[in-house]
Amino acid sequence: MRKPFLAGNWKMNKTVDEALAYAESFLPQVEGVDQVDIALCPPFPALRPLAQACGGSNVAVGAQNCHWEEAGAYTGEVAARMIRAAGCEHVILGHSERRQYFGETNETVSMRLQAALDAGLAPIVCIGETLEEREAGKTQRVVEDHLRGGLARLGPEHMGTVTLAYEPVWAIGTGKTATPEQAQEVHAFCRSVLADLFGQKIAHATRIQYGGSVKPGNVKDLMAQPDIDGALVGGASLDPESFAAIVRF
Ligand code: PEP
Repeated sequence: MRKPFLAGNWKMNKTVDEALAYAESFLPQVEGVDQVDIALCPPFPALRPLAQACGGSNVAVGAQNCHWEEAGAYTGEVAARMIRAAGCEHVILGHSERRQYFGETNETVSMRLQAALDAGLAPIVCIGETLEEREAGKTQRVVEDHLRGGLARLGPEHMGTVTLAYEPVWAIGTGKTATPEQAQEVHAFCRSVLADLFGQKIAHATRIQYGGSVKPGNVKDLMAQPDIDGALVGGASLDPESFAAIVRF
C-alpha cells in the first residue's frame, strides 16, 4: 500500500519571514494528519528556518533543486549535502521550469538524482510532456524518455526513497488540470516503464504524484485514481488554508 504524499512547491515565492508565518498557520491545520506524507519546498534561504519551525511535526521540508557535485567552483549552485545539513528530507528534481528556463536535461537530472540519494535526500523527480508534445501524440514517448534518462544511474536498490511527479507542462500554473482519467492513463504507463526498468515489485511500491493546477476542489477525484499517489502542488500550496485543505482531501 502506497502512502499518499502531498508536497507544496513554492517556486520563487516567500521570504524567510513569510515562510515562518505560513508554518505558524499551516502546522496546526495539519496536526495529527498521519494518513499522508506532507512536505513544503520553499526557496533556498527559507530551508533551514522552515525545517526548524517544522521540527517535531508531521511536515517535512525539501529544496527545489540541487547540484551534482559535493562542493567546488559552481557559483550560484547548492550541493545536496548542504540541503540535507539544513534539515531537509526532500529535493525536487527536473521540474519543467528548470528544463524550460535553465537547460535541465535528463542527463543533468540523472546526475543530480544520484547526488541527492548519496546525500540521504528523498527526491521527487518530475516528468511530463508539453502541450505541443501531447497534441503530436508523443506523451508516452516523452514521459518514457524522462524516466529512462532521469533514472539511468539508479538500480532497484536506489528506488526506495524516490517519488515521481507526473506534471503535464500544459497543466502547470494554467488552471487546466488533466482529467483524472488522463492523469491515470499516464501514471499507469509510468508504472509499466518502472516495471520494465526495475521489476514489478519496485513499480508497485513507487509513489507517483500528479502535478498541474491541483486545488482543494479537484484533489479528491485525482486521488481516487488507482495509480495517483499524491500531488505536487504549486500555486495552491502558497496559501496555508488551501494547501491544508488539499492535504486533508
Ligand atoms: C508545479 O509547479 O509543480 C505545479 C504543479 O504548479 P501548479 O500547481 O501551480 O500548476
